[in-house]
Amino acid sequence: MNEEKLRWIIAKCQALMAAHAEELTALDQAIGDGDHGLNMTRGFDAILAAADEIAAMPFGAALQKAGMTLVMNVGGASGPLYGSLLMGMGKASAEAPRDGAGVAAMFGEGIEAVKKRGKSEAGAKTMLDVLVPVHAVIANGGGIAEVRATAEESLAATKDMLATKGRAAFLGERSIGHLDPGARSSALLINAVCDVLEGK
Ligand code: ADP
Ligand code: MG
Repeated sequence: MNEEKLRWIIAKCQALMAAHAEELTALDQAIGDGDHGLNMTRGFDAILAAADEIAAMPFGAALQKAGMTLVMNVGGASGPLYGSLLMGMGKASAEAPRDGAGVAAMFGEGIEAVKKRGKSEAGAKTMLDVLVPVHAVIANGGGIAEVRATAEESLAATKDMLATKGRAAFLGERSIGHLDPGARSSALLINAVCDVLEGK
């Protein structure tokens, strides 16, 4: 992962969050407080603003800096949660991983940090319901097409789930029938990284 690619990933993530802000907000209006689009754009705008500094850092430090930028700039739960993901990944991997096993190990540490921060596991209708199945695919040696398909399927599966963590949990049974906003932003971010890895 060179400086140019990191910069490209940052730009791609920021652009996707901006393009889907209204959609993320609408999803959060249904089962939360309607700020997920704003939270994600605010966070990734801040990362983009620091892109020169971040991309020039060693890989692990760059991820940690990006994660810290989310924590410092996002008010909602998603800031500290995505911040924990990136900081956990950065701590786990000082250098860019060279193969799928390396990516899986790094991503796994990030997911553990999200679980710890959110006191949650997959199954609670959150971003973890996309992150965990995608991690399993990578750990099993799956390629980019399988990663994208799993992100899509696992996002769709959050619709019928009952929320037991985050604001949506306050709705109880009424959380059923809606996609989880954080699962949607996770699927978008995963696709952004896949795009760059495929040179798109
Ligand atoms: P807030 O809930 O503070 O308004 P956002 O709307 O930005 O923050 O983010 C909401 C998303 O965060 C949810 O859709 C869910 O995916 C994720 N989330 C909330 N709480 C948790 C948790 N405890 N563990 C994992 N993810 C969570
Ligand atoms: Mg919200």
